[in-house]
Amino acid sequence: MSERYARQELFYGIGKEGQKILMEKTAVLVGCGALGCTSANLLVRSGIKHLRIIDRDYLEESNLQRQSLFDEEDIKQNFPKAVAAQKKLQKINSLIQIESLVADLNPSNIDTLLRQVHLVVDGTDNFETRFLINDYCVKNGIPWIYGACIGSTGLTMNIIPSKTPCFRCILGTIPLFGTYGTCDTEGIIAPIASMIASIQAAEALKILTNNHDALSKGLLRIDLWRNEIKRMHTEEIKGETDCITCNQNYYEFLSKDRYSMTTTLCGRNAVQILHPDGSSLDLPKLAERLAKAGEVSYNSFLLRLKTEKYEMTVFPDGRSVISGTNDIATAKGLYAKYIGM
Ligand SMILES: [Zn+2]
Repeated sequence: MSERYARQELFYGIGKEGQKILMEKTAVLVGCGALGCTSANLLVRSGIKHLRIIDRDYLEESNLQRQSLFDEEDIKQNFPKAVAAQKKLQKINSLIQIESLVADLNPSNIDTLLRQVHLVVDGTDNFETRFLINDYCVKNGIPWIYGACIGSTGLTMNIIPSKTPCFRCILGTIPLFGTYGTCDTEGIIAPIASMIASIQAAEALKILTNNHDALSKGLLRIDLWRNEIKRMHTEEIKGETDCITCNQNYYEFLSKDRYSMTTTLCGRNAVQILHPDGSSLDLPKLAERLAKAGEVSYNSFLLRLKTEKYEMTVFPDGRSVISGTNDIATAKGLYAKYIGM
């Protein structure tokens, strides 16, 4: 018998039975940044059956301070985060299925990307994606674990559809202090991300082994610089709110019309543009075509074009991140010029 999970099986809350249950479970991680790296590492080591990682971004040097799955070589290789994470995680545990998806989670692909999962773990950095996850999970009865960090402050909460208030109930009621800036404008220290992600991973183990009685209740807020830990009780909120999502069953974030094809990536001085039909691009051919436009490099996951003022990263599905501007019109112009619609 494998000794691999022996210490976890000895733990009273899990045991051999719990381990067996855990090994049948699929979780999806949306966003593989500071939070996602830590929770993915812990979940993969715990021996779940399948982890699906969805991330839309590529690696940058400033990620290394807190995104614990990545190293300097990954940056040299120009890997998207999901791909670099999968490579590292599969070395940690070769027995489980790890899937990496370099994609922007949106209403057009959410049914496919979140299919057949027992749990969604939030590693995103923006409200729009969280509202989308919330709508999908409440509608389909899938638990999800909210997590967010900025500066030295972090927040986390379990959302168990029909048992706890949903993200929308809470956001309409409690201002989520400290989450309106971004790590790119306010900075962040790594320990708060590790801490919040560790709590998310512990809650994930409870949910996946059906230990619902042990779940953390309410919204937990921790500030590691001011040494504060607060729990806001949210149980009474459910039923009191006229929540558009869980009381009225109106899932506005799942509407395809609502989603914009262009997004300013907050604090990054960059704009993301989606290709209207997600068509598949031939990156070597595109590299040839763009050779005169600037400095071009590519691998099987992405192509990068550096011009004097801008840097454009293009993925095979036609999605592009244009950095060097916050202006959507400028970014659209560059996209039309270099990629075409
Ligand atoms: Zn709600």
